[in-house]
Amino acid sequence: MITIAPSPFTSPEMFQGDVLNDDKTWMPVGSIGHSRPLIYDTRNGGWISILRARSEGTIQRHRHASPVTAWTLDGSWGYREHDWVARAGSFVYEPAGHIHTLFIHPEQGHMLAVFHIFGPLIYLNEAGEAEDYEDVFIRMDRYLKYCKTVGLGEDWVRSLIR
Ligand code: FE
Repeated sequence: MITIAPSPFTSPEMFQGDVLNDDKTWMPVGSIGHSRPLIYDTRNGGWISILRARSEGTIQRHRHASPVTAWTLDGSWGYREHDWVARAGSFVYEPAGHIHTLFIHPEQGHMLAVFHIFGPLIYLNEAGEAEDYEDVFIRMDRYLKYCKTVGLGEDWVRSLIR
C-alpha cells in the first residue's frame, strides 16, 4: 500500500452556489441572449459557460478546433447542420473540427445549457471565410470589457481562472 496525501501543488477548488441568478455576471451575446462564464481553464485553453436565450435566434456559424460538450438544462436548441433537438436532459458532444450554427429551436423558443469548450473557435461567413476568432484569452478580454461596464472588476474575472 502507498499513502496518498493531499498535494500542495493543486489549485484551489471552486464553488459558485448561485450561478443561475439573473445578475450582472451575465454578459449579453449579440441579440440572442446572455452568457455566464463558470471557469476559464487558461492552462488548457478551454472554458465552461452557460448560454441562456429567451427568444429565438442564431449564433454565427463557426468551426471548433477542439471538442465541445453541451448539457441542456431548459428549453430547446440545435445546430442547423444536424437533425436532433436538444432539450432539458440532452447531452451533446461535438468532436474537434466540427462546423455548426446554433439556433434556438421554435418548439420552446428559449434555451439554457452549459457548454464546455475545449479550445478556440473560428467564426465563418456564408462563403466559409474566417471573420472572427475566439480563444480563452479573447473570451476573457471580452468578458472583462463587459464587466467594467457593470462595475465588476478584473478580480472577478480572475477568480474564474483554474
Ligand atoms: Fe459551437
